[in-house]
Amino acid sequence: MPERRLQEVRRHLEKARLDALVVSHLPHVRYLSGFSGSNGLCVISLSRQSVFTDNRYRDQIRDEVEGFRIHVARAGLFEAAQKSGILKGVRRAGFEAQYVSFSAFRNLKRLFPELSLVPTRGIVEGVAAIKDDGEIESIRRAVAITDSVFSRILRILKPGIREMDVAAEIGYWHKKLGADGDGFEPIVASGVRGALPHARPTMRKIVKGEFVTIDLGCRVCGYHSDLTRTVAVGQPGKKARTIYRIVLEAQCKAIDAARAGVKSRFLDGLARRHIRRSGFGPYFSHSLGHGLGIEIHEPLRLSALSRDVLNAGNVVTVEPGIYIPGFGGVRIEDDILIREHNCEVLNKAPKELLIV
Ligand code: ZN
Ligand code: ZN
Repeated sequence: MPERRLQEVRRHLEKARLDALVVSHLPHVRYLSGFSGSNGLCVISLSRQSVFTDNRYRDQIRDEVEGFRIHVARAGLFEAAQKSGILKGVRRAGFEAQYVSFSAFRNLKRLFPELSLVPTRGIVEGVAAIKDDGEIESIRRAVAITDSVFSRILRILKPGIREMDVAAEIGYWHKKLGADGDGFEPIVASGVRGALPHARPTMRKIVKGEFVTIDLGCRVCGYHSDLTRTVAVGQPGKKARTIYRIVLEAQCKAIDAARAGVKSRFLDGLARRHIRRSGFGPYFSHSLGHGLGIEIHEPLRLSALSRDVLNAGNVVTVEPGIYIPGFGGVRIEDDILIREHNCEVLNKAPKELLIV
């Protein structure tokens, strides 16, 4: 499993004139080695690779990892790395600057006084942005489960139900249908609370005639799904219908243009321009989408400021929204797989305005 990933990491190391990379961010440890425990460390040199954990995971790590030297540490993982000698003879080693705390950094310096420690950014993320068939399969399974949870939620949505009840059902069904669990705390935002893009579910009861924005996702084998639908509970008003239509049109425009070679800021611009021309420009207050995979938000961004260009094998979300303070909001989000000449929308959940 890790062969291509290790080769790619080593290619980046050579380009950066590094002799090794210390990988401490757990999703990256899992991505590279397969180890999914809560305490892990990988060290990748140009010729060797080791993975470290503690005694609690002695058996699990042997079950999960292939192609790495496995070390079960008695004390700290950095200490074990030092004892293992994997960094002997290494002059310049990268560490993941975003994920290493100051005290961990000091510890590294103390244990490896000879080593030149170089902060790195985005090495594993860059490799992980292109999904292989197995990863796409896991994402597909996660997406299918989330779609199915959404269809179950539609059956229970009615006036009087609390946002928190909906969130609880989402968590229950994700697990029941075979996911590892919610990939993030679901967003359930009803009525005026729909104007908050990241509203936490509350005890608020849903009222007839309101929109409810539901943003949910799960994890399967460590890979995420991420779906948002806005549903009307009872007949919505005219303005609500209008903003729903505009958001859906904006989303479709971006999806229709998504393919390899396209600048991600171009897609953001397509959706944003449509919303702006419809008179709601100031109310689309976040970027269009994000990369999706071992993390719910991967660094690939669909935003006005992004310099990213899409590649075949990227999986990203497309999620325009309109949020009007004191009124409410609409967001529609799908996960798409970028291909050479187009993209595949992975979600099958319906997108026309649903009135329950
Ligand atoms: Zn989402
Ligand atoms: Zn998202």
